[in-house]
Amino acid sequence: MLDAEFFRRWMTAAAASVDREAAQLTALDSPIGDADHGSNLKRGFTAVREVLEKEAPGTPGAVLTLAGRQLISTVGGASGPLYGTLLRRTGKALGDGPEVSAEQLAEALRTGVEAVRALGGAAPGDKTMIDALVPAVDALGDSFAAARSAAQAGAVATVPLRARKGRASYLGERSIGHQDPGAASSALLISALAEAAG
Ligand code: ADP
Ligand code: MG
Ligand code: MG
Repeated sequence: MLDAEFFRRWMTAAAASVDREAAQLTALDSPIGDADHGSNLKRGFTAVREVLEKEAPGTPGAVLTLAGRQLISTVGGASGPLYGTLLRRTGKALGDGPEVSAEQLAEALRTGVEAVRALGGAAPGDKTMIDALVPAVDALGDSFAAARSAAQAGAVATVPLRARKGRASYLGERSIGHQDPGAASSALLISALAEAAG
């Protein structure tokens, strides 16, 4: 079973890997965006780490809803409301019990990803974070490690795609040949989940 401490470890691991990879995420956002994805997420996840230390919510659902609220209020770019919605809606779907199973997490994360799709209007293949998140959620029924591999493969698979959502879509054909920064950061988020699971 997964308790609040597990979810705090997930968010802390995500913050650490966003710190480590911020320059790379911004570099990906440079040719097909406005070169701020790394700094956006670094600001957001630093705030998440701080608020979780301060408030120490006692249930899995409360950890993710608080983290999501924090991302929405601190990240200015498109990714703030989208990742914020992902975590808030996943947290809400986890309910208010002290522990959840891996199966409950997989189901809740699917609800969260659906909410991101509803908010941003992106479908798989549109070259967004959805292209890493959907395969990750599909693989999460197998294992955390399988979800991580699926997210990483999904992010790499955005390279040949033409962007249909977000800033990169303004480039049309010229968005082809670059990895989507949000898909790359989603792979980090899922990687952090596998890390928290040990
Ligand atoms: P901004 O584009 O506002 O500067 P960021 O650079 O932080 O925001 O985030 C860009 C990422 O957000 C993209 O790489 C993409 O993955 C994701 N994104 C943008 N618009 C959408 C959308 N409508 N649906 C899903 N993801 C999106
Ligand atoms: Mg950007
Ligand atoms: Mg921006």
